[in-house]
Amino acid sequence: MFDKILIANRGEIALRVLRACRELGIRTVAVHSEADAEAKYVKLADESVCIGPAASAQSYLNVPRIIAAAEVTDAEAIHPGYGFLSENADFAERVESSGFVFIGPRPETIRLMGDKVSAKAAMIEAGVPCVPGSGGALPDDPKEIVKIARAIGYPVIIKASGGGGGRGMRVVHAEGALLTAVTTTRTEAGAAFGNPTVYMEKFLENPRHIEIQVLADQHGHAIYLGERDCSMQRRHQKVIEEAPAPGIDRKAIARVGEACVAACKRINYRGAGTFEFLYENGEFFFIEMNTRVQVEHPVTELITGIDIVQEQIRVAAGEKLRYTQKDVQLRGHAIECRVNAEDPFKFIPSPGKIHQWHTPGGPGIRVDSHVYAGYTVPPHYDSMIGKVIAYGDTREQAIRRLRIALSEMVVDGIKTNIPLHQEMLTDTHFLQGGTSIHYLEKKLAGNT
Ligand code: ADP
Repeated sequence: MFDKILIANRGEIALRVLRACRELGIRTVAVHSEADAEAKYVKLADESVCIGPAASAQSYLNVPRIIAAAEVTDAEAIHPGYGFLSENADFAERVESSGFVFIGPRPETIRLMGDKVSAKAAMIEAGVPCVPGSGGALPDDPKEIVKIARAIGYPVIIKASGGGGGRGMRVVHAEGALLTAVTTTRTEAGAAFGNPTVYMEKFLENPRHIEIQVLADQHGHAIYLGERDCSMQRRHQKVIEEAPAPGIDRKAIARVGEACVAACKRINYRGAGTFEFLYENGEFFFIEMNTRVQVEHPVTELITGIDIVQEQIRVAAGEKLRYTQKDVQLRGHAIECRVNAEDPFKFIPSPGKIHQWHTPGGPGIRVDSHVYAGYTVPPHYDSMIGKVIAYGDTREQAIRRLRIALSEMVVDGIKTNIPLHQEMLTDTHFLQGGTSIHYLEKKLAGNT
């Protein structure tokens, strides 16, 4: 096992990784920007290194500084968390060529899955069901593009091959708008992701977002840890996540889970990962893979009893998976609310000093947050300040516990989206379960 790990991230995930390391008896190095010097995990880490000013480009995305920090502290491995450099194949390569272990898949796997066109091709080859589409990058010839769209049938969605974070997508409802949409998306993708390649998919009108968590070791073993339902989204960003997904036949989940495991083995996957699917009319359609730990991993941990972050570290150290598929038994239900520093209904970011911070507790409640009273939420980063996760024997119990937890929570000094969560937790359709990815936005539109 490693002796020392450098955590190349910030916020709640930095603290989450730090806790996993401590439990495994591994010493930690926190790297931080000038804006995060006072963060809790920086103080809890065995060592810390300031890697630059507040702006991410100069700190959390500053590869030479991060590598230098690993060198001066003599760390053995680097955990990238999520976001920032976690899915950057060049970074993973730099980490490994500098003699450190990257806690994640091989650089070539990150590259393969980071490009959505090549990822889809690999999944089709592996027998994972995908959204019907162009079967590769769109050609330049406008006539060909029109032909492809007609074959798929409208509405279609034009997506950037290098896209991420819900950006670089455009829905087209009729042929008249098609070519302009392709050109605009290409231009935007080139500017935003440095890759103008776009592809086309059937636009599914009312799908749910269902994803499969996988774990794979370096010895050819892979398992799936059930699924998560992350359909409650705003602007393609997840707001509430739960596991298991309400109302989906377990046999169908097992089939898609087994296909993901087969794909992992085929692409020689290593570490934790997530296969994301749209689910409509009883069918699963792969959209992308995330080659890192996800924000919503705790709901899976609560229903499987498996610590995903610790397993990432063990696998990176060369250990064999400690679980077989049979060991993965789902028990109960878990729901997570992402707590953001923002206006609950206008969604304007609300950074600033937190004067009072009281977190809830009691049976089945887990709070993953790096925040404390007196902490200042910096304006430079993602607005998420923590996650409140509830576990129950049943979905109803998890919801009840989550409602109570949110009602106990006190955050004073900044605005948070807790009022929105409280509203969602009494929403009739949410209570029934199984709402589509458009539900939250439609509800919000109706409210205004
Ligand atoms: P990103 O990497 O930017 O998150 P994804 O491919 O995962 O991109 O898509 C993000 C979201 O966009 C999905 O969760 C879904 O809400 C929507 N989306 C993507 N592809 C389709 C599609 N073919 N039909 C309908 N919605 C889609």
